[in-house]
Amino acid sequence: MAKVTFDTDRCKGCGLCVGVCPRKILVLAKDKINKKGHNPAEIVDQDKCIACAFCATMCPDCVITVEK
Ligand code: SF4
Ligand code: SF4
Repeated sequence: MAKVTFDTDRCKGCGLCVGVCPRKILVLAKDKINKKGHNPAEIVDQDKCIACAFCATMCPDCVITVEK
């Protein structure tokens, strides 16, 4: 099963990963603030991930790791 993890404190909350995910399962966590002061990206439904890695490819700060 695909597994997506985030180096959360490096996220700048730009939302690029959220926009590119074909399954629409990434969000900016409105209830969380990381060390940089941003709402970090997170995955809401790991089971729907198809491990396409579009999110990891798009992220300018290499926050996301996708494992198959
Ligand atoms: S690997 Fe693909 S399906 Fe999974 S969270 Fe990233 S963009 Fe979405
Ligand atoms: S693309 Fe990277 S920096 Fe931007 S919100 Fe997603 S994880 Fe955070």
